[in-house]
Amino acid sequence: MLNLSHRNIPIAIIGGGIHGCAVASRILREIPSAANHVVILDRNPQPLLAWRRKTESQGMAFLRSPAVHHIGSDSLGLVEYARTQNRTAELAPPYSQPSVDLFLDFSFHEIETQQLGQLYHQFDVAKLRWDKGSGKFPFRIISKVNEGFRAACVILAIGTDDCTHVPSELDLFIRRFPKLILHSSAFDLHKTIQRVTPSKIVILGGGLTAATLAKNLTDIDVEVVMIVRRSLKIQQFDFEPSWLGPKALNRFSKESDWDKRRKMVRQARGEGSVTPEIAEALTKARSDGKLHLRTGVNIRQIDGDSFLQVKTAESTINDVDLVVLATGFRFDLHRYRFLSDLTEQHKIRTLRGLPILDNRLQLLPVRNLFGSGVMAQLEIGPAAGNIAGISLAYERMREKVLAAIPKPHSGYKHR
Ligand SMILES: Cc1cc2nc3c(=O)[nH]c(=O)nc-3n(C[C@H](O)[C@H](O)[C@H](O)COP(=O)(O)OP(=O)(O)OC[C@H]3O[C@@H](n4cnc5c(N)ncnc54)[C@H](O)[C@@H]3O)c2cc1C
Repeated sequence: MLNLSHRNIPIAIIGGGIHGCAVASRILREIPSAANHVVILDRNPQPLLAWRRKTESQGMAFLRSPAVHHIGSDSLGLVEYARTQNRTAELAPPYSQPSVDLFLDFSFHEIETQQLGQLYHQFDVAKLRWDKGSGKFPFRIISKVNEGFRAACVILAIGTDDCTHVPSELDLFIRRFPKLILHSSAFDLHKTIQRVTPSKIVILGGGLTAATLAKNLTDIDVEVVMIVRRSLKIQQFDFEPSWLGPKALNRFSKESDWDKRRKMVRQARGEGSVTPEIAEALTKARSDGKLHLRTGVNIRQIDGDSFLQVKTAESTINDVDLVVLATGFRFDLHRYRFLSDLTEQHKIRTLRGLPILDNRLQLLPVRNLFGSGVMAQLEIGPAAGNIAGISLAYERMREKVLAAIPKPHSGYKHR
């Protein structure tokens, strides 16, 4: 792996998660010689590590999405891989959802086949600058250890990890009990159980993270009280699959009011939902008396000392070891400090933290700076942050991104 310092690199992808790796994989499938012209930067030492840790810390066994959505560009690639490895039993009915292990093994197979490891650099981006008019490589990317290089085109694939969402009414309690009230991103099922054996945990949230944690904790005999603001919504996917088709997407892109688009995304995704399989496990845990479900209520007060007392409008839950806030993430561009000078200097438009991108996913007026993943939701719609959103995003930025690769190169044809 070459040192990046002082080099001029055509394409820099910030984020080596599913989106970043998938975009790199697609570029290389189209132009294999582009390997010398693309880098993937991530603060973690290995690709996909952030996502792998999240699934492990929740004890998630299967993906929610079907096997056709993965980091490669051939939709049947994962199913074919499962077949050749004799692992089709790891494709769950009814939609062939892959096990997390199978998904990761296939992802690493794709990373190896495409030699993406050679493009991958552990590099924690501390600053991104755009020096307009400074030639072919206007971006300057600087790491936390002051390593720096220039790029012609930058793709932001930074996920939402820096944007944990905690309802503001709970701030006070978190400050009072920082070790006993955790956001789910800071909760590790295995480590918590190793350190202490909690006997009662309150989980706030009604999405798949909350439900998966509740299932896995009750499986090891922890008593769980799940507090859900609304009723528990049961559905297979995060959003209706029609959001991947032209009809819904055309309707979405015809909407010129950004706030209406934001609301369409919110409405399509709701406030989180639970798959039928996990819902069934929760029903069993309830009938075994290990899980108590409180719906239509919110936490009003938390008191305590070494144990907590959690109050809702309806009841008080005593002797609580831990409160886990499975309250999700809300993307906010302003929370990414490495982008703050750039967004301020070039007045990048946002709506409630979401960047307003052009139809090529550029953060105008900065040209050739693209946003992929959750941050592209005002253009891509409800699927933006999911694995299925990768192909939709790549199609939008493809032509401009590939144009950054020095010619001559073979294989790439303008569509
Ligand atoms: C437990 C869990 C299960 C899920 N299951 C599904 C599913 O079944 N189907 C589905 O479609 N979606 C699922 N999702 C949603 C899923 O997270 C996304 O589909 C996918 O992980 C998003 O990938 P990403 O690359 O955008 O973000 P991430 O995977 O979060 O990757 C972003 C990367 O950017 C890096 N980064 C950020 N800032 C910097 C910086 N300044 N410098 C360097 N690197 C930086 C981070 O280290 C990280 O590696 C799931 C999410 C979770 C948490």
